[in-house]
Amino acid sequence: MFVYNTMSRKKEGIRALKDKRLGFYACGPTVYFYAHIGNMRTYVTEDLLRRALAHEGYVVRHVMNITDVGHNVGDGDVGEDKVRAEARREHRGISEMIDFYTGKFLEEEALLGIQRPDVMCRASEHIGAMISLIEKLDGKGYLYRTSSGMYFDTSKFKDYGRLLGSSFEKMSKELKAGARVERPAGLRNITDFAVWRFAEPNEKELVWDTGYGRGFPGWHIECSAMSMEYLGETIDIHAGGTDHIPIHHTNEIAQSEAATGKRFVRYWVHGAFMTIGDRKMSKSLRNVYTVEDLVKRGYLPLSFRYMCLTVHYRNMMNFTFDGLEHAQRSLKSLYAFISRISAIEGVGHVDQELIDKAEALRKEFFECIGDDLGTPTALSKMHGLMNLVRGVKLNGSESRRILDIMLDLDSVLGLEFNMHLSSALQKEAKELIGKREDARRRKDFRTSDEIRSRLRDEFRITLEDTEEGTVWYTSTD
Ligand code: AMP
Ligand code: ZN
Repeated sequence: MFVYNTMSRKKEGIRALKDKRLGFYACGPTVYFYAHIGNMRTYVTEDLLRRALAHEGYVVRHVMNITDVGHNVGDGDVGEDKVRAEARREHRGISEMIDFYTGKFLEEEALLGIQRPDVMCRASEHIGAMISLIEKLDGKGYLYRTSSGMYFDTSKFKDYGRLLGSSFEKMSKELKAGARVERPAGLRNITDFAVWRFAEPNEKELVWDTGYGRGFPGWHIECSAMSMEYLGETIDIHAGGTDHIPIHHTNEIAQSEAATGKRFVRYWVHGAFMTIGDRKMSKSLRNVYTVEDLVKRGYLPLSFRYMCLTVHYRNMMNFTFDGLEHAQRSLKSLYAFISRISAIEGVGHVDQELIDKAEALRKEFFECIGDDLGTPTALSKMHGLMNLVRGVKLNGSESRRILDIMLDLDSVLGLEFNMHLSSALQKEAKELIGKREDARRRKDFRTSDEIRSRLRDEFRITLEDTEEGTVWYTSTD
């Protein structure tokens, strides 16, 4: 599996340091508003990467933060905390608002077939880890105090700006020459950033009393502290949107590597933006659509996922309803194909030449995916497979072979083909799920495990027993 590493500016083969295990950290949402479909494009890309790696046999530990404190309205460490400001504007309680938007986010991710991260961590619950990291940086002389907070002195970090192919001197010069971004008073360098901000006397919620004074964390320190807590000091893969390269990820690298003296991330993966008209889609411009908006207009959420797959993740994607319409038509024809071939019954002679061609397309599909998530070309291989059997009268034995390939491709695409199997097969899968539930109730774990394996092998369904009952996903095993 190759990915484009923003740090080295080339495609690199992914290798685990041990046992095919990979730690994967993705910057999550700031929960002061609905996540929009631009954000969702980035999360779909991350989900694809995770699925592709799982398909290659890696055991991926996916960690995502929920930013519920520390992200300021003015991005340059000025202005109020976004969550606090929005709660006031909406006249809502802060924790109720955080729960509401986090819940909405998870619901919409599920609608897009995005697998839940293994760990979802809230910034407000990791203040202790952030303070420890801040103390470490302070002990090494990287921090200084101003009237508004504790700041990281970027001139002291040797490789500052390397992620965007720049340097401390170059970035300082460019920032000084460019449009003025408001910065707090007392900064030593224009690129310096807050790791801890002092609270104003009227700020009562989302503030903590610490040795550095009453306040709240800077946004960047959250990701460094939480990724280290769950994935160790060196993360294998760190992902996010390209907007994070110049500031958020650049600062994460500076403070993490300054604190540990180790390399922070092995592979940096960044997804390009989604635009609407000629403008970027962003919460602050309020030119956004949510998944719910698309559903209200009669679209399947997975049509949006399909649309994302048609554009390579490193290319800008312009959102239009025409494009979505087109994606939905393609997706529906795929579903019709799945339900048609899965309804074919009867054992028969297998045309080996046909199956060999189909297997070659499966292989090519995964080569495209393995080449920096080449989803547009991978989709063309899948359509090639559909064309291959168009007009061919398949018997049940052949259709099962084709279906098996399609479900395998879908384990990475995540379009939930297994929800569109013929009604007979769906009935069979549902009966198996029911039988497994019975076996579990009887504590007959052997039978329950046997059924679980059958569901995985024959239907590509992974079962997960949660507090709310058993849920099923498209399997990536
Ligand atoms: P935020 O909640 O703004 O921190 O963004 C959450 C994630 O979505 C980050 O990885 C951003 O880089 C990404 N993102 C924000 N806006 C867009 C957009 N218009 N297109 C694609 N990704 C975006
Ligand atoms: Zn982050």
